[in-house]
Formats: sequence, C-alpha cells, structure tokens
Amino acid sequence: EIDPTVRPDPLPGDHDRALRPQMLDEFVGQAEARSNLKVFIQSARQRGEAMDHTLFHGPPGLGKTTLAQIMARELGVGFRMTSGPVLAKAGDLAAILTNLEARDVLFIDEIHRLNPAVEEVLYPALEDFELDLVIGEGPAARTLRIELQPFTLVGATTRMGLLTTPLRDRFGIPTRLQFYTEDELFIIVERNARKLGAPADEGGAREIARRARGTPRIAGRLLRRVVDFAVVEGDGKVTKALADMALTRLGVDYLGLDGADRRYLKLIAESYQGGPVGIETLSAALSESRDALEEVIEPFLLQQGLIQRTPRGRMLAPKAWTHLGMAPPRTANDLF
Ligand code: ADP
Repeated sequence: EIDPTVRPDPLPGDHDRALRPQMLDEFVGQAEARSNLKVFIQSARQRGEAMDHTLFHGPPGLGKTTLAQIMARELGVGFRMTSGPVLAKAGDLAAILTNLEARDVLFIDEIHRLNPAVEEVLYPALEDFELDLVIGEGPAARTLRIELQPFTLVGATTRMGLLTTPLRDRFGIPTRLQFYTEDELFIIVERNARKLGAPADEGGAREIARRARGTPRIAGRLLRRVVDFAVVEGDGKVTKALADMALTRLGVDYLGLDGADRRYLKLIAESYQGGPVGIETLSAALSESRDALEEVIEPFLLQQGLIQRTPRGRMLAPKAWTHLGMAPPRTANDLF
C-alpha cells in the first residue's frame, strides 16, 4: 500500500482525492470489472497500443472516476478529465483532443449530457482518431481533417439509457458498476480510517459500512463525520457505539437511508397509499428534479427491494412499509 505521507498533499477541498485508491490492486470490490480491466490493460501495454474506449455506468460515488484514473496510471499514460456539460462547443472538444499525447486517457464524466454538435466531433475521433473541423461558413466553408494521436476515451454516466446509440456503440468495453457489499465497504472504511489517522475498531467500521448505501463515496463521507464526533465527544476512536450515535444524529438509519430517502418513501405511503405514482408527480411533490430521483435516490431503494418500478409508476414494496413502521392499506383482495 502507498504511504499517504509520501504523496503530495491533495488539493484543499478535494476530499475524495485523499481517499482514492491509486492502483487496481488497492481497488476493493467490483471483482468482475476489475479482473476484466486487468486483462485489457495488460494487453494494451504489451501491444503498445491505446486501450479500447471504456464506458463506466452506474449510480454516483461507486468509483467511475477512480477507475478511470487508475487505468491511466496502470497504462502509464497521461490523464485528462472533463465533463459533458462543460464541453459547450465542438471547438472545446477539438482543443482537448488535439492536445492529447499518444495512448492518453481522456475521461468525460456525465457523458450523457454532451451537446449533439460536440458528440458529432467525437465519432470520427473515436473511430479513426481523426477530427473533421468545418472552417468558415456558407459556400466558403470547407472541412479540415486533422489526425489525432490514438487515445482511450473513458466515459462515465449515471444514466446509460440517455446515451445515444451511436455513442454507446463506440465503446468497446462497457462496464456496469454495482453497489458494494457490506464486507467490501467494511474494508474500505477500515482503510480510510487509517488514512485519516483515526483508527476504527471492527464494530465501528462495520456500522459505517452497513449504513453507507452500498456506496464508497458515502462511506467516506460518513466516516469523516463519525470521526468528527469521535474527536469532539469521544476519545478519538471510532467504535460501534460512537458510530451508531453519530449516524443516528446525522439522520442515517440502520438501512443507510437518509432524510431524502425517507421523505420519498413516506410520500408514496402517506399521499398515494403505496402507489403506483408517476415519477413526475413525485418530483413535483418532493421539489427534487426527476434526474436526482432517478439517478441518486431510486437505484438504492430498488436494489434494497424497498420500491418497485411498474409501467404505471413507483410502488412501495412490503419491506418499505415495515421499514416505515406503517401498515399497508387494505386492498380489495384483502376484503374478499
Ligand atoms: P464516481 O465517479 O462513480 O461518482 P468516484 O470514483 O469519484 O465515484 O468515487 C467516489 C469516492 O469513493 C472517492 O473518494 C473514491 O476514493 C471512493 N471509492 C470509490 N470506489 C472505491 C473503491 N473501490 N475502493 C475504495 N474507495 C473507493
């Protein structure tokens, strides 16, 4: 393991960076993705070629950015990072592409939010490592073809369904990231606690892992807050009792649901008798964007079997009623 004290200081405010694993072997979980990537990385290295374009999809905080950085490091190439909404004009992307060195990794976060004009530029770049730039306008316009260095695009998206088919088809390595198991998060929490200089005992680390919504970013955030409580109200040690007290005060319940999750479930229970209710209705009633509900809140509730998606809308599953401590309404079936 890399000693954090010999690495340069992370940027102030970049909390994620301090805890990011640097190499594939340090990356916990996602066993299938990891073992496949290992092969593709080694093959690209041995052939001296750019690795094939890779797409990571899955809910936020599962390690898409981290894996992209690890790929560049393992490939021994440069890493450039941008995001879909930032690339406003075709020229913005062209400027980045023409500055890449051979075999570099270009990471585009939120790639489903690329402007269509920018996406057009990307196709020939991905396929043939060429840029077709239109210079001038009207009858005087002409196309200028620029050769690019071969590079690897790593795209990340929380919404695979919003990617256009031509873009999706240009990724040779589509990889879906899964929620982490409690055991995997336990290893991550223990390791992060050591990196933060606030050792967690087994019970403390496990409590945080259990309540981290299957997500390493959330595990990291909860750990920092628990450490705050440990320092101020305890003796600095992260124990089970301390973690439980801190997480409960933070509004994180034993399933890892936070206030926003419970508001979502309660709304369906109390205002819609358990559903089905449409996503637009939920979005309006909760004052949350539809995207936020679909990308951040719902994936974990679905994975936990708390809600179901039906053609007529969202419905609470029996487990949600139990979790809320409420009785489901009697249905016609119960009456006859
Ligand atoms: P995404 O790009 O999917 O939103 P990130 O790659 O930014 O997620 O990861 C969020 C945080 O979680 C980072 O601090 C990262 O260090 C941590 N993290 C993600 N995956 C792992 C993992 N497998 N092991 C340890 N830490 C991880």
